[in-house]
Amino acid sequence: MKKLFLPIAIVAMGIFASCSQKETVKNESNDSCKAAIDSVMATLDKTVETPEEAIARLKDGNARYVAETPVFPHHDHKRLAETAPHQAPFAAVVACSDSRVPVELIFDQGIGDIFVIRTAGNNVNNDAVMGSVDYAIEHLGVKTVVVLGHESCGGVTGAIGDVKADDESKIDELLSMIQADVKPYVGKADSLDAAIKLNAATQVKRINDRELVKKFVEAGKTQVVGAYYNVHDGSVVFE
Ligand SMILES: [Zn+2]
Repeated sequence: MKKLFLPIAIVAMGIFASCSQKETVKNESNDSCKAAIDSVMATLDKTVETPEEAIARLKDGNARYVAETPVFPHHDHKRLAETAPHQAPFAAVVACSDSRVPVELIFDQGIGDIFVIRTAGNNVNNDAVMGSVDYAIEHLGVKTVVVLGHESCGGVTGAIGDVKADDESKIDELLSMIQADVKPYVGKADSLDAAIKLNAATQVKRINDRELVKKFVEAGKTQVVGAYYNVHDGSVVFE
């Protein structure tokens, strides 16, 4: 069975890989391709009911992205019309502003799918960011909040390196805020990955420690998790 299954799987992956090209997606004559994409799209059109389903949808989307088989869902004018009256994202992601971390792309999601909060260093220790998290949970009903740290994060690099910026700049304040959350690694440039993961874990705890969030988590309505994005291979590992 294995001998038969492997070539079929490889051929199937080949067909699906070609479906990732937008030109091919529009090619209605490619029946195999269209069927493969329709199958994924049908799944993505279902309402996410639980935190587990939300995290699984993000993991599946990232797997498509890593395999170079994204379906680019929910980005057409039909989706604009559907979402214009109101938004109902299934997830919130607190990510870094780093240009290498385009949230919808790396999770293969589209318009109206993810409520994205981005700041350099993905730190939630201020009212603007935490208020945005509250809004996503309380008013939008997101089933998960993901704090997404990433490899080679400049914000955390600056924080553990004790970088000093110009007096006119707000960068020092930003780095000080991150530094307070990665204290064990300050001055240890070779511990950058550990500092990035601690930074994300600290934000998860900070969100989970709030009474409003506890109510939603204890009721099974949402779940707050940390994750780490690899800028080399595009993979996201959930903690
Ligand atoms: Zn970063």
